[in-house]
Amino acid sequence: MSTPTAPAPATGRPRPTPPARYRNYVGGKWADSASGKSVPNVSPADQRVILGQVPLSTPQEVDAAVAAAVQAFPGWRDTPAPVRARILYKWNALIEKHADEIAAILAWEEGKTFGEARGEVMKAANVIEFMAGEGRRIGGATLPSEMPKTFVYTVKQPLGPVAIITPWNFPIAIPCWKMAPALIAGNTIVFKPATLTPWTAQRVVELLEEAGLPPGVVNLIYGSGAAVGDQLVKHRSIRAVSFTGSNEVGTHVYTEGAKRLLKVQCELGGKNPLVVLEDADLELAAVATAQGAFGSTGQRCTATSRAIVIDSIADKFVEMLAALAKKVVVGDPLADGVTMGPSVDPGQFKTVMEYLGVAKGEGVKLVTGGKRLEDGAHANGLFVEPTIYDGVNGSMRIAKEEIFGPVLSVIRVKDFDEAVHVANDVEFGLSSSLYTNDVNRMYRFVDLIETGIVHVNSPTVGGEAQAPFGGMKGTGVGTREQGAVAVDFFTELKTVYADYTGTKRTTNIY
Ligand code: NDP
Repeated sequence: MSTPTAPAPATGRPRPTPPARYRNYVGGKWADSASGKSVPNVSPADQRVILGQVPLSTPQEVDAAVAAAVQAFPGWRDTPAPVRARILYKWNALIEKHADEIAAILAWEEGKTFGEARGEVMKAANVIEFMAGEGRRIGGATLPSEMPKTFVYTVKQPLGPVAIITPWNFPIAIPCWKMAPALIAGNTIVFKPATLTPWTAQRVVELLEEAGLPPGVVNLIYGSGAAVGDQLVKHRSIRAVSFTGSNEVGTHVYTEGAKRLLKVQCELGGKNPLVVLEDADLELAAVATAQGAFGSTGQRCTATSRAIVIDSIADKFVEMLAALAKKVVVGDPLADGVTMGPSVDPGQFKTVMEYLGVAKGEGVKLVTGGKRLEDGAHANGLFVEPTIYDGVNGSMRIAKEEIFGPVLSVIRVKDFDEAVHVANDVEFGLSSSLYTNDVNRMYRFVDLIETGIVHVNSPTVGGEAQAPFGGMKGTGVGTREQGAVAVDFFTELKTVYADYTGTKRTTNIY
């Protein structure tokens, strides 16, 4: 263990001690990569602070991780699901026990505030708890047969070793909402976390080990997506890939998977609309919009990035939003009183700054924000002001493309039909929200909106562990995550015909 390479601020939440370097976990053993190559885990709030070195694993180490998952599969497959569930319950309890510590790690390396990070940790715990319960429920169907004395039923069976590839923006919730259904269904796992958030990934796996998971059932391998991630997707022993991340990489993963008819699940970007009709409670709508746009620094796949507002109420709505944006306290995510942290890394920060330039070029009205924060406590971090643009046209780039920063576009429309048209006129389809008190337009919106998750009088962000989560159109391919349905991706449905007549069939079934 070592201290970070620059002193952490004395104020705010206690900070755990980071490891000097992260280690792979393969076949139940923690080991340094033989590559000798690594990249630093840099705190986004203070770029001078290095939170350990992340190894760039070798192809041989990736092969070893897959081999460990292959070897562990028969034993885990044959472990009864209710017995697997006991390990998940212990994992859930350990995550809850260490919630403050994990949240501090997450906030420090990823940049969301401690409160947001703690919420994410509890989301992970909830998903694991729900999936552990599925250990006593995973089942198939019994069906009538056309044949006499014939029992027809279906059974869900695990796939084998699967790859789980995850992004940095929810570094505990997403790995857990993929690993929990994969494990309860009896699969073994090679887990490749985002290189930007290695510490959270390490804690997730350490707690699984402490919960009593047998060696080889989950294997953690660090390294770049282009090398380690790509090798996993192409590996012949990997039976499925569950991926969350950008559209660019997701398209690559899906294409490579298709070349060998691999089962692939991709959850990708979002450009989520919040629609405000003239009869809405404007205060509720404004609070939800600000929460969705600036929460987690806008670095959520479900972030509200477009407020689509009926023109007659737009002036008042924008005024309320601007007041809320000005109350946001930007700074070190572990410092007291801070309500919005930094962009995660220089690449993401540069993207956000470029979009602020694009907005200027598109001639929209800057309501508030629009700049980097570099003074005093912000000097060494990647901080952007909460930013609102008004007068945005639905066809502009800032209205169409995912920015992944605290940037909101207000699009004024004349009526409900135009609002729905604009809301759907993007390539993404993850989450949406409608603010209204009109029950007829509420149900019509649910009919027409092209998103996998629809909120009514509630923010675009958020979802519960027992409910399916995922997107339509360019946001998602494959079955939904979370909820009982999450198990479907990680299982094959086998249909069984058992003839107990003990005689030759007189007719055939077709
Ligand atoms: P990326 O697509 O850059 O990376 C995601 C993961 O893929 C990382 O582990 C990355 O590794 C890995 N990877 C990179 N290249 C390859 C490759 N060629 N083959 C296999 N794996 C690879 O996404 P981000 O981490 O930047 O995450 C942000 C994106 O995730 C946003 O677009 C956001 O909308 C989306 N997202 C979607 C969600 C949803 O449910 N729809 C939820 C949360 C986020 P490395 O870190 O080493 O580059």
